[in-house]
Amino acid sequence: MAQCEFCGAATSLYDGGSPVCIECSNRRDAGEKLTKLTKVPRVSEPDLQREKEGLLENLRIARDRFFDAKRLATNAVDQRPEIEHADACFAMNQTIRNEMVEFKKYTEALSALAEFALRQKSSKS
Ligand SMILES: [Zn+2]
Repeated sequence: MAQCEFCGAATSLYDGGSPVCIECSNRRDAGEKLTKLTKVPRVSEPDLQREKEGLLENLRIARDRFFDAKRLATNAVDQRPEIEHADACFAMNQTIRNEMVEFKKYTEALSALAEFALRQKSSKS
């Protein structure tokens, strides 16, 4: 049996193609404004698997980019640029700034994965 789209009660009555129970139908006819139940979309297992793969892939990419940026920044500092040269200092500054940008993306990718794991946990309990 279908469910009333307003209250969720079992009904075999259809109105305009949508299932509606007699009570809600009467209330609507009386001029009451009814709001439809919000359907919680059920996420299928393959979709979850794909989402997880995507998040893990993002994490791998972010991690690689961060470690590349970190290596460049470390090298730039290790090479001890002539600090009296503004250009050299500026370039070193850029590599370190870039490392910070990539670090932020890396932590964001980690957070996204943690949120996914939390959602999984709460949907199972
Ligand atoms: Zn109803």
